[in-house]
Amino acid sequence: MRRKAAVIGSGFGGLALAIRLQSAGIDTTVIEARDKPGGRAYFWEKDGHVFDAGPTVITDPACLRELWELTGADMAKDVDLVPVSPFYRLSWPDGTTFDYVNDDEQLARQIAELEPADVEGYLKFLRYSEGVYVEGYEKLGAVPFLDFKSMLKAAPSLARYQAWRSVYSVVSRFVKNEKLRQALSFHSLLVGGNPMTTSAIYALIHKLERDGGVWFARGGTNRLVAGMVAHFERLGGSMRLDDPVADIETKGDNANTVRTRSGWSQDFDAVASNADIVRTYEMLRHPAGGRGAARLKRKRFSPSLFVMHFSTDGRWPDVPHHSILFGPEYAGLLKQIYGGSTLPNDPSIYLHHPTATDRSMAPEGRSTFYALAPVPHLGRAAIDWDKEGPAYTRRLLEILEQRTLPGLSDRLGEVFHFGPADFEQELNSHLGSAFSLEPVLTQSAYFRVHNRDDRIRNLYFVGAGTHPGAGIPGVVGSAKATAGLMIADLAA
Ligand SMILES: Cc1cc2nc3c(=O)[nH]c(=O)nc-3n(C[C@H](O)[C@H](O)[C@H](O)COP(=O)(O)OP(=O)(O)OC[C@H]3O[C@@H](n4cnc5c(N)ncnc54)[C@H](O)[C@@H]3O)c2cc1C
Repeated sequence: MRRKAAVIGSGFGGLALAIRLQSAGIDTTVIEARDKPGGRAYFWEKDGHVFDAGPTVITDPACLRELWELTGADMAKDVDLVPVSPFYRLSWPDGTTFDYVNDDEQLARQIAELEPADVEGYLKFLRYSEGVYVEGYEKLGAVPFLDFKSMLKAAPSLARYQAWRSVYSVVSRFVKNEKLRQALSFHSLLVGGNPMTTSAIYALIHKLERDGGVWFARGGTNRLVAGMVAHFERLGGSMRLDDPVADIETKGDNANTVRTRSGWSQDFDAVASNADIVRTYEMLRHPAGGRGAARLKRKRFSPSLFVMHFSTDGRWPDVPHHSILFGPEYAGLLKQIYGGSTLPNDPSIYLHHPTATDRSMAPEGRSTFYALAPVPHLGRAAIDWDKEGPAYTRRLLEILEQRTLPGLSDRLGEVFHFGPADFEQELNSHLGSAFSLEPVLTQSAYFRVHNRDDRIRNLYFVGAGTHPGAGIPGVVGSAKATAGLMIADLAA
């Protein structure tokens, strides 16, 4: 008899897991709370503008291609990935800019302009990043850390690369210039980690980008999600949208039934959750549920984000696809985001400008953008977002107009935002965290939520709360680890 599995949530991790299970001949049903799949990669269409809600920087396309190759299919038939260059344009309030490109010569020239001695330091950093990439991503990125033994096995390489040090501190060993230190350490923010405290292992992202490139899915990240769903459904999998799961019912120490808010229910041989880890334990009708949720609530969660979407009249040929606008403070700002209780007035901003790569993201002669600023999560900062949302929108628009989009206010079209309260309510995310558990060493690998629950042996986890963590390559790697366990368990 064919085995049946449920995947709760259709984020990248959930969809990647569902494809792997269905490819292995397990009848898989994805149950999603929202009306569209994709999780953080949701999207809106307004007056011909396409607004992707979340991920925009696609790295390591090979981990995605693999999902099609499992059954001999070709991702290119469903998704058109286009390269983006520069990867990012970095800028500072004093007018300095740095085009972070995949070209040694251009990089060396720009580094030399900032600090000649750092050219050599950068090459040493690149070698370090290559080393952690091989150990931390290639070898361990899709391994389920179920017991402490697995952690001990990884310990020598963690020690060799000084994983207890922070990304910023390791980068500072290699380069002296403060702007370069920021340029080479900000990446951990993309997965919810504070460069000042997150393990230096996250320096691997630099190598990941340099090797695999930075890509954009034509039509937006939502097209990548749509491609994954189309592939999954062609394999015979089923999607159930707009129906939040309310209960994971158990019989003894087995998860056996999934029940949704609409009253629908079905029995499964295995249940995997891609939903928030705290919320999943709250849905679990078993004494381990309450205990699991209480234990996780004591952990550190990554910050939230304020994402301001907007459209403009006309085009901005000088503004690249991805820009990072560093604020006047780096360490001070990070302290505010990760430990403070107020909203930073001088944020660093990531500016997404998809019409720079793909004109189909807006009607002819118009542009689509989003500006993203990390902000404290709801457990730290008791901010009334109904009131602060419009004020923060004005602040971000003011900075953008001064720094990179002159005359913006005269050309502004639609403006709306998605903030911490939306992460909590719309995405069912504990404290409105944008990236789940903070990726610090004491919450990584074995110390993160395990891909299979220790007590309920047919309950599995996938996504940002599990090893290796947030970001598309991370959650797709977690899906590989979880699928390996589920396929083996269901065959036993
Ligand atoms: C604004 C933003 C920008 C980002 N940019 C990038 C980027 O450029 N590149 C990159 O690689 N990463 C980026 N990230 C990180 C990346 O998007 C996430 O880490 C990743 O997409 C999370 O995937 P996930 O599998 O954990 O699932 P999620 O996306 O968290 O999806 C979980 C799903 O579970 C559903 N769910 C929750 N509760 C229930 C329930 N009770 N019943 C049914 N369904 C439920 C939710 O509705 C949601 O659809 C970004 C994140 C954000 C927020």
